[in-house]
Amino acid sequence: MLMSDRSRRTLLLSAAAVLSLLLAPWAARPNPAPGAAPARQAADAPAEVYNLRSYTHPNFTRLVVDIGVLREYVAKESRESGLITLDILQARLNPIVPTALVPAGGDYIGAVRIAQKTPSTVRLSVAVNFARIKRTQVFHVLDPFRIVIDIYPLEAGRAASATTGPPAGPPPKAPQPAESGYTLARQLGLDVRTIVIDPGHGGADPGCLDAQGHLEKDLALDLALRLKAQLTVHKDIEVILTRETDIHVPLETRTVLANQKKADLFISIHVNAFADSRRRGIETFYLNFSPDPRVNELAARENATTSKTIGQMEAIIKKIVEASRVLESRELAQKIQANLVQYLSRSYADVRDLGTRGGPFWVLIGSDMPAVLVEVSHFSNPGEAARLLDPAYRQKAAQGIAAGILAYRKSLGKG
Ligand SMILES: [Zn+2]
Repeated sequence: MLMSDRSRRTLLLSAAAVLSLLLAPWAARPNPAPGAAPARQAADAPAEVYNLRSYTHPNFTRLVVDIGVLREYVAKESRESGLITLDILQARLNPIVPTALVPAGGDYIGAVRIAQKTPSTVRLSVAVNFARIKRTQVFHVLDPFRIVIDIYPLEAGRAASATTGPPAGPPPKAPQPAESGYTLARQLGLDVRTIVIDPGHGGADPGCLDAQGHLEKDLALDLALRLKAQLTVHKDIEVILTRETDIHVPLETRTVLANQKKADLFISIHVNAFADSRRRGIETFYLNFSPDPRVNELAARENATTSKTIGQMEAIIKKIVEASRVLESRELAQKIQANLVQYLSRSYADVRDLGTRGGPFWVLIGSDMPAVLVEVSHFSNPGEAARLLDPAYRQKAAQGIAAGILAYRKSLGKG
């Protein structure tokens, strides 16, 4: 490989800087000014690459890598190998991310792959036809931190030529898996093999707090990890978490990721809170309207990270209910609720069963698989908060939820 054919660029990121790089001058750029101290600090924290997206615009193709926190990255191009590579340092690839995708972009861009290159480096590689490319732009955007690669073909409009949509239309969403027959396959009783567990909240969104300032997001992650450990005892079950560390993942993204992984079940884990500290108990939700103002109050709080209102959601939920994955989700919710209450009751007195019901939870919208949201107990109730802070209680809760999932699987005639 000729050295002249490689250009290399190391970025030290400062929170204020949004850097745009043109492909050709990469090698010529000077090293960044030694003033990027905040990035060095952030580099010590764990970072998760949790999504990879592509958009086809009329005049270019955009790739977006979503990462929880600020990271250094190194972009290179090799005309000989026909690859643009992006190394993200001090990062880990969440297994939920699709490892390859092919943007609908015409003949100047091929497969995009992402992998854990070393224990601490995630590498994105993009196959491109350099002869057909005018320029490439690599930059990052904050809140949440993501790295963007824009690839411009020589001929404007080329990018859109492979798509059938209107050239000036909005960019398509992240590529969806072929969905035809998927729900049907589930109805035919295919096994439950891939389960996505969604620890509620994360990053700047703490969820609810108890009186001492403990955070729901931390408990939800702990419960999710315990649940994963329970389920992965079964060799034929694969478990994927929507987040494995304390990062922000948008609600809308969570089920999209589960769909991309063709997951069989989606389980969102939360801890409840109400203004009335006497209220306590365990409840499990599936997506539906609710006439109960308390359910809508809870949903509004759990939905707080999106701007979508309950009112806006009603029309969407109506469509989903009509398409009906509701029955399966309700079935799953009932199995989880019953087992969770039963397991906790074996070791704890007076466990309150609040039952299952529908609720307008944004995180459950858009899933192709049965999806439920478990409110394990109330953080706002002093007695239940004390129990939640005890690892033994969380372990029993995880065992109960796992037993519910396995009972649901068995009800399909499998497991
Ligand atoms: Zn929550």
